[in-house]
Parts: sequence; C-alpha cells; structure tokens
Amino acid sequence: MISWIRRSLSRKLFVSYLLVIATGMVVLALTVQVSGRPAFDRHLAAMAQMMGDVMMGRPMMGHMITAQSLEADLYINFQSALRESLALATLVGVIIAVLASLFMSQQIVAPLRHLLYATRRIAAGHYSERVPAPPTPAGDELTELAHSFNRMAESLEKAESLRRDLVANVAHELRTPLTSVKGYLEGLMDEVIPATPETYERLHREVNRLERLIDDLLELNRVEAGVYELHRQPVSVQELVRSAVERLDLQFREKGVRLTQQVPADLPRVMVDVGRIGQVLMNLLGNALQYTPAGGTVTISALQEKSYVLIRIVDTGVGIAPEDLPHIFERFYRADRSRSRSSGGSGIGLTIAKLLAEAHGGFIRAESAGLGKGSTFTLGLPIVS
Ligand code: ADP
Repeated sequence: MISWIRRSLSRKLFVSYLLVIATGMVVLALTVQVSGRPAFDRHLAAMAQMMGDVMMGRPMMGHMITAQSLEADLYINFQSALRESLALATLVGVIIAVLASLFMSQQIVAPLRHLLYATRRIAAGHYSERVPAPPTPAGDELTELAHSFNRMAESLEKAESLRRDLVANVAHELRTPLTSVKGYLEGLMDEVIPATPETYERLHREVNRLERLIDDLLELNRVEAGVYELHRQPVSVQELVRSAVERLDLQFREKGVRLTQQVPADLPRVMVDVGRIGQVLMNLLGNALQYTPAGGTVTISALQEKSYVLIRIVDTGVGIAPEDLPHIFERFYRADRSRSRSSGGSGIGLTIAKLLAEAHGGFIRAESAGLGKGSTFTLGLPIVS
C-alpha cells in the first residue's frame, strides 16, 4: 500500500491532504476529550458555589432560584465549557495541521529544490552536478524526473568531454604538419636547407597531409551529424569489390603487395549507396595496403551469413595488439602513432567507415591474432530483402 502511494505524486499529494485533515480532526477530538471535562467541572463548581450561597441565606442580588433558572444556568455553563474547550482544541488542531502540512510539503518540495539548484549549476557549466535519486521502482514522478535529469547531465558531461577532446586532438593534429612546414620554410629562408626539388616535394607532402586531415574532419563532421543522403539501391557485391580493387590495384603493385579476391558470383545483392560503401571498402583496403609490408598478401572475400553479406579483408601485415583492438574505431586513435603519422594516417578513417556501415544497417568488425600476425576486417552489409 505504502509503495503504491509512493509511486505516484498525485496519490502522495492526495494522501498528504487527507493526513493533514485527519491529524487536525484527531487532535481536535483529543483536546475536547481532555479539556472538556475540566472546563465543565469548573463552570459547575461556580454554579454550586452560587447555589450554596443562596441556601446559606446569603442574598443574591435580585436572583430568585427556580427550576427554570437552574436549568438555564446549567445550560449556560455547559455552553461556556464547550466553547472554551472547542476554542482550545481548534487552536491546538490548527497548530498541529500547519506543522504536518509544512512537513509534507517539505517532503515534496525538497527534491524540486535539488533539481532547481542542479539545473543552475549545469547551466553555469558544472556538468558533473547530480541530484540525489532513490531507486526508481519505489519512486514517484519526482524520482523519475531526478533519474532523467541525472541521465541528461551525464550525456551533457560526455558531450562536453568529447568536444574538448576533439578540439585538443584537432589542434594537435594540425600543429604537427604545420610545424614541419614552418621548419622547412625557415630552413629555406636561412639557406640552411637547399632549395632542391626534393625539399619542395617534402613541403608539398606536408601540405597534402594538412589538406587530407581537414577533408577527413569535414567528412567526419558530416557523417556524425548525419547530414548526407544515402541513395540505397540493390548492388552486386562482386561489382562493389571489383571497382574498389581496380582503383587500388596499381598502388598494390607498386608496393609489392599481392591482392587476391574470392567473391562468388551467386551472392545475393546488397542494399547500399554505391559511393559510400565504395568509400568504406577503399578505406579498409587502403589500410590493409598501408599496414602490410612488401611481399605480403591481402585477400578480399565475401560470403552470405543470415541476412548479411560479409566482405572480409584479410592481410598478412603488422597486425594489431589486443590492447589496441577495442580502440581502433575511435577518432584519432592510432595503434602505432609514429608509424601511422609518418604515413599520413589521421586515425579518422575507420571512425567514418564504421559510421557509414552502421548507417546502412551494417557493421564493421576487426580481428587480429596480435602484432606481426596480420589483421582481418569484416564489413557486414544487409542483403536486399
Ligand atoms: P589511419 O588513417 O591512421 O590509418 P584509421 O582510422 O584508418 O586511421 O585506422 C586507425 C588505426 O587502426 C591505424 O592507425 C592503425 O593503427 C590501425 N589499423 C587499421 N587498419 C589496420 C590494418 N589493416 N592492420 C594493422 N593496423 C590497422
């Protein structure tokens, strides 16, 4: 019963009004009970005193004692006793009712005060602020509000920390190539570095890196905000893979990494945006090429599993350490910072690829037996239903 009342604010308010009224009435009745008798006795004693005086022959100024006058006196005394006791009972009842309603409203208003205070703190940028929140099953709407408030504060805190990290990461990523460009330019000005075609080529590479980073950031922003359109259509997986392989074939040959494909022709078609999934495949194949030394192999295969087609890119490259594996889809995460930075990687490619795959109702998984043992990336795409 008590938990049934506690679970609803309206029930709580209703019961608290009833309690205040009941408390007032009980106190009223008790006070009448306690004070009624003494008051009546007092008035009766006054009357007895008066009658005694008359019997002892003491004259009462113009007062003749008859049966009627005795009854009237008794009634007047009874009324006075009742009034006196009721006045006292009302006073005590009102005081107790006021105290009871103050206590009840305090119980209801206290959580609201906490919320008000916490809202102000959060508005002032203190995102770690939380309100006391008892467990929900026993709580009413105010408890639920406190829980929702805490969840909202938690998301705000997380968003704020992501924003701060992003600004710090972007600043850091921009500074590295800029420092390099600045160093070359100063060297050229001071004639410490010779103005040879190689120097200009290096400068050009750094500027390209900056440009790529900015393009990646803009793309990440678009994909995260979801401000792009997906033109999904039924597409053959063989066609998707063939097109990505064709575009990277020359780079594979130049580096001396063998690229093989095993995609059966009878796979069901997938429902995707050709451009976007092409971008994801290029990213996965590009990474496989980047992290596989010359003489290695990259194999791209596909198979159906339930309502998905799984495209697997297996390389015999540097592999991924188990402690890095859970993080490689995070923004700016690079398993080997120095190596991937020198090769121009921003650590954003996989984040974008994963978001794009998920926007299609698909997924990307990464596996690796460890450093030096190659990696496997699996892209799952929903088949046309
Ligand atoms: P990057 O531009 O640095 O390659 P990605 O987001 O594409 O950024 O990849 C994040 C990190 O995941 C890389 O820095 C690398 O450490 C790791 N990684 C991705 N693909 C592979 C792979 N095929 N083999 C080994 N490590 C990989």
